[in-house]
Amino acid sequence: MKPAIVVVGSLNMDIVINVDHMPKEGQTLIGTGLTEIPGGKGANQAVAIGKLQAPVSMIGKVGADPYGTSLLNSLTASNVNTEHIVTSAEKSGVAVVTVDQSGSNHIIVIPGANFDITEQDIELQRQAIEQCEIVVLQLEVPMEVVKYTLQLAKQLGKTTILNPAPAKPLDDELLSYVDILIPNEHELADICGIELVDDQSLQAATQALLAKGVQSLIVTLGEKGCCYADHQTFKMFPAHKVKALDTTAAGDSFIGGFAASYVSNPNMDEAIRQAQIVAAITVTRAGAQSSLPTLAEVQQFARE
Ligand code: AMP
Repeated sequence: MKPAIVVVGSLNMDIVINVDHMPKEGQTLIGTGLTEIPGGKGANQAVAIGKLQAPVSMIGKVGADPYGTSLLNSLTASNVNTEHIVTSAEKSGVAVVTVDQSGSNHIIVIPGANFDITEQDIELQRQAIEQCEIVVLQLEVPMEVVKYTLQLAKQLGKTTILNPAPAKPLDDELLSYVDILIPNEHELADICGIELVDDQSLQAATQALLAKGVQSLIVTLGEKGCCYADHQTFKMFPAHKVKALDTTAAGDSFIGGFAASYVSNPNMDEAIRQAQIVAAITVTRAGAQSSLPTLAEVQQFARE
């Protein structure tokens, strides 16, 4: 059996409303478009992994509603095992995204079923964690569940990856359960309270988290690429030069690409190399899950 990944996290239906301009207070506008797109950081990362043909299961919750069904279908279509996704009495998570002609957006998230996940739910899906190699988490489910899962995964000897998005304060105990922390530069600055102005401040921020017990960090830096830091190393990895069209899900694709490589070959440089290819392809396409590349596309990009 190929080694597997478990993603514990959020599933949201993104309801994207297009407008010419944002409404003023009290104003009623006629929109120019409406689309429903499966999202949620957890689901996006699971889909990124599934499309790269690494065995992946997701643990999460959806509502007993049509959005829940669509969210599960989108995972299944990308080879993600949905057996460990449970139905909640709450409604499926929803993100209402209003986008104007200039591309500016307003986003309101109703977490719904995602915030209904408890430690007991994780315990009930313990077998999935026992059978995997890597557990991947983000911060769109309750913090106590993130901490409980990280601790359980470490007790079971698994590799833990935390994408601290959206950024929230992280306590030292939680950080001590993280093998690989993957923030973007804004999340890193928020978590450390250090303004990132140059390589020196970036390195200082990574050192601050390593001192708190994180084993290693990868900081994604948008078009600049990423850096890797552990107690011995600090290394920059420049991004591929591509024509970026839409950076939605760049971070999620990076994490998926990284985990899908690391699970079968725990070589940091190789996994970062694959992550940057996956993310480079993703930013050249519009959308979130729809922009994530297949394994064949990644192999093709690597050959070019
Ligand atoms: P971010 O979440 O913006 O830090 O981006 C995550 C990853 O996506 C980066 O580490 C890069 O590998 C990739 N990426 C983001 N923006 C670009 C870009 N404009 N060109 C190439 N790669 C990019």
